[in-house]
Amino acid sequence: MSIDTNPASMNGEGDRREDRDRIRHVVILGGGTAGWMTASYLGKALQGNVSVTLLEAPTIPKIGVGEATVPNLQRVFFDYLGLREEQWMPECNAAFKMAVKYINWTTPGKAEATPRQRNGRLDYFYHPFGTLPNCDGIPLSHYWYYKQALGETDEPFAHACFKEAAIMDHNLAPIRYDGTPVTFYAWHFDAHLVANFLRRFATREQGVVHVQDELKSVMFVPTNGHIAGLKTKSGRLIEGDLFIDCSGFRGLLINRALAEPFIDMNDHLLCNSAVASAVPHDDVRYGIEPYTSSIAMDAGWTWRIPMLGRFGTGYVYADQFATVDQAAHDFCRLWKLNPEATSLNKIRFRVGRNRRAWVKNCVSIGLSSCFLEPLESSGIYFITAAIYQLVKHFPDKHFDQILIDRFNNKIETMFDDTRDFIQAHFYLSPRMDTPFWRANKELHMTDDIQEKIAMYRAGMAINQPTVESAAYYTSFDMEFDNFWTNGSYYAIFTGLGVLPDHPLPLLTYKSASREAAEPFFTAIKREQKSLVSSLPTQYQFLRKLHRKDGGTGQSIRTLREANEVISRGLRDLA
Ligand SMILES: Cc1cc2nc3c(=O)[nH]c(=O)nc-3n(C[C@H](O)[C@H](O)[C@H](O)COP(=O)(O)OP(=O)(O)OC[C@H]3O[C@@H](n4cnc5c(N)ncnc54)[C@H](O)[C@@H]3O)c2cc1C
Repeated sequence: MSIDTNPASMNGEGDRREDRDRIRHVVILGGGTAGWMTASYLGKALQGNVSVTLLEAPTIPKIGVGEATVPNLQRVFFDYLGLREEQWMPECNAAFKMAVKYINWTTPGKAEATPRQRNGRLDYFYHPFGTLPNCDGIPLSHYWYYKQALGETDEPFAHACFKEAAIMDHNLAPIRYDGTPVTFYAWHFDAHLVANFLRRFATREQGVVHVQDELKSVMFVPTNGHIAGLKTKSGRLIEGDLFIDCSGFRGLLINRALAEPFIDMNDHLLCNSAVASAVPHDDVRYGIEPYTSSIAMDAGWTWRIPMLGRFGTGYVYADQFATVDQAAHDFCRLWKLNPEATSLNKIRFRVGRNRRAWVKNCVSIGLSSCFLEPLESSGIYFITAAIYQLVKHFPDKHFDQILIDRFNNKIETMFDDTRDFIQAHFYLSPRMDTPFWRANKELHMTDDIQEKIAMYRAGMAINQPTVESAAYYTSFDMEFDNFWTNGSYYAIFTGLGVLPDHPLPLLTYKSASREAAEPFFTAIKREQKSLVSSLPTQYQFLRKLHRKDGGTGQSIRTLREANEVISRGLRDLA
């Protein structure tokens, strides 16, 4: 038992002061994915002790894309809200994603949706989720490369080191029929359905007040320049203590009202536009791919995000290398669409971040805060991470500057690290056949990513977690501080055909460790074989989950629950 000797709290004064200084009213501007995720999360995290109002203009559309995610979405966001996959997935037409598959990133030529031949191999590679195991403190990737260099294996990295590669090659689900997951995965979903689902959840379960009106002007506190309230077109004034800007690329509060500069990063990443659409798909005939595809194009790349009955797709391009008409033409050609009969969502986006995500009493989250082109599906991850960090740094009415500075520092590091990682994809691709691919080799690279590339070439690991994946993923803080791990760098760099100059020198001394690593490779092969012969297809599983087969839906265990069941079984056997 701890004894509180603070006289202020003993006589109740402290409680009263805390009460007086508490933020009472949070106002969120914008009802896209960012707005509704923030509203849902804050209601829960602050245990009903603040009121949340969300102002959204029904006449101003949401961005309407943002359909591929990363695995922590369930653990950090949905689990926290008590929402299991079988509750939200059917409402959002969600499917499973185990990786990003890069197609034709190493061979020159016109855009093609299927991999071309390269040196007797198909031009594709996977970037799977999850961390790699360590053997004697050295990641498995490095044993794989040691064998490669000696000519003992010619298997691609992801196929040799991740069981998921074989599952994906067969369009299987990452879950058994009984709902037991066999690996980490993320989701594809319909962005509009997700915003609607979260709106219902936030307003019904968390008491969030939804105001449908358009922002007209912003009122300020004269003494300190904080935002005092939002005036709407219909004449309403919405007052608050803390304002969250989720107004999308407009950045109405952070950039316009508070004049915080947006740092444009087109000098690192050239893509700034997209043409997008949804394409019907014959699931029975072709199956549903359990991964996002990224198909290299003349002036960028095209995403393909499969769901039941359709896939979402968009050509992300640099407008200095393709006009919108050229992009639309190449995109329609890729999917054999009739350009006259296809309605395309034409999007212009800004790449970069606000100098500070949080200024005075306004925090920007979502596209109003920062955006990187969607190559590694970072948009919704940035929202998840920002609301998690906001709660950790949640202020009272004093708005202690150190809370604000620490939050801003977290967002800056998260963003810049991911920007560098994505830039390396374009920089290291050997493609030089169009002005776009050539221009990517001329851009400024930060010292940090240059050092990482140099380390990789010297045979070293980049950001390898020192703990195994079960421990790594138990706390989001550990993942947040080291998001792109060695397995990711290895998947992208080797996939693009860039190999280390030589194996990790230490490994040449460690013959016993090299022998000890062999069972890891054998176990992966054995598991791949067993999973390929026992898992349902993604199509079969989704039909059941979405109750398209006349059943009652599918209950999915969390990976932690699944591991507990397996451990219990092993204990019983012992
Ligand atoms: C081309 C592209 C592809 C993407 N792909 C992915 C992906 O695969 N994975 C991923 O994680 N992320 C992706 N993203 C990012 C993702 O779309 C966004 O992070 C996510 O949708 C959040 O958007 P938002 O809520 O910030 O903004 P928006 O969806 O634009 O919402 C803005 C909200 O503000 C409201 N608003 C605006 N002005 C006013 C006003 N005056 N008064 C009142 N309300 C107002 C609007 O009505 C709307 O509700 C992609 C983005 C782009 C551009």
